Amino acid sequence: MTAPSSLLIAGGGIGGLAAAYVLARQGRAVTVLEQSAAFGEIGAGIQLGPNIFRMFDYLGLTEAVSRVAYFPPGLGMNDVRTGEKVVRVPLGDTARAVYGFPYGVIYRADLHQVFLEACRALPGVTLRTSAKVESFEQDARGVRAKLASGEVVEGAALVGADGLWSRIREAVVGDGKPRVSGHIAYRAVLKREDVPARLWSDDVLLWGGEKTHLVHYPLRRGELFNLVAVFHSNKYDEGWNTFGDTAELNERFAQAVPQVRELLGKIETWKMWVLCDREPVKDWTDGRVTLLGDAAHPMLQYLAQGAGQAIEDAVVLGEAIRRTPEDLPQAFLKYQQARYLRTGRVQLTARFYGDIYHASGVARELRNRMFQSGEEAAGFAGLKWMYQGIDPQHLFD
Ligand SMILES: Cc1cc2nc3c(=O)[nH]c(=O)nc-3n(C[C@H](O)[C@H](O)[C@H](O)COP(=O)(O)OP(=O)(O)OC[C@H]3O[C@@H](n4cnc5c(N)ncnc54)[C@H](O)[C@@H]3O)c2cc1C
Repeated sequence: MTAPSSLLIAGGGIGGLAAAYVLARQGRAVTVLEQSAAFGEIGAGIQLGPNIFRMFDYLGLTEAVSRVAYFPPGLGMNDVRTGEKVVRVPLGDTARAVYGFPYGVIYRADLHQVFLEACRALPGVTLRTSAKVESFEQDARGVRAKLASGEVVEGAALVGADGLWSRIREAVVGDGKPRVSGHIAYRAVLKREDVPARLWSDDVLLWGGEKTHLVHYPLRRGELFNLVAVFHSNKYDEGWNTFGDTAELNERFAQAVPQVRELLGKIETWKMWVLCDREPVKDWTDGRVTLLGDAAHPMLQYLAQGAGQAIEDAVVLGEAIRRTPEDLPQAFLKYQQARYLRTGRVQLTARFYGDIYHASGVARELRNRMFQSGEEAAGFAGLKWMYQGIDPQHLFD
């Protein structure tokens, strides 16, 4: 009896589709098992650092992404109470000169669509919806993923790209529920024509305040305007993509400068997220089963890297398999080894950046003084290790 050759991927989010695309480009058969009835992403913006454009370049997707992305000229931070400028880092040509790749922002659904179309254009990818993976078994021949419908899907190996609440992680790592951070994000997207010119900013602009911040930036070639408001609250336990309470948000930003309050007032309906992460782990592989993206290393969004790290994972996983195509458990270990320190560093640094954005008292004064002095050029220079990214050609040298 021949062993199954198709690789199974649980989850068709950005990470799962990126992995499917990478592996199918190598000529492998891949089956994506997505629990939802349709492939899609909720509407909101995400930032894409130069390290992620480096991956798009490697994957031949730069043009497709650039068609729908927006490239902000700068990344700034203002004090939400006083309106004073804390720092502005030029992006555009500067980011390209420093890192070799641009800094962009994109509508999540647009990025997901780029990967979906890229997968559909390859013969090796089978995309299945309404296919929730409940459990799996493995032996020396392969894996069997059991779906909620009772169907069993066989494959050579299984990649758990099933997000923050990963079923696959439960079995492989078994470290319980994610850590509820006590930080809540409200997200909304406005049309350009609904944002008065005085409230519009071409930059990615963050208004930092005590236990709160607002970040906004244009999306989709500048046709849309994305807002994310974050505050600390222990009111909520866990949850994802429910509706936010506008009164609570306004109360949290009551001390903000009028410009910010006016902007918040433009939005009638917010989507709410309870932000969670996990402690980094170094072992997220078990034989023919491994994890990728949020399933492996969920992080707070303060460095805007979760989706980007999932895409880097996909590239590294692909390279590991390309080098050891006949030994998938070995390739998975190589992949994990190449990833856990970098992703762990992003997880931990993201928490720290949350503290910087939300600083009060002396910490706030110090932040403003340090950033305004230009010495830290600012915080951004300290993130060079992250934005420079990984070199797919020399991963395992
Ligand atoms: C407020 C906020 C702002 C953010 N901003 C940024 C940003 O600016 N830049 C950035 O890079 N990242 C950002 N992120 C992080 C980013 O959204 C995530 O890291 C990214 O979506 C992770 O992708 P993923 O594919 O690993 O998981 P997910 O996107 O969670 O996808 C998992 C998929 O698996 C499916 N699934 C789940 N369980 C099963 C199952 N048992 N069987 C089958 N399918 C299953 C789900 O339906 C889903 O389609 C942000 C996150 C938040 C909350």
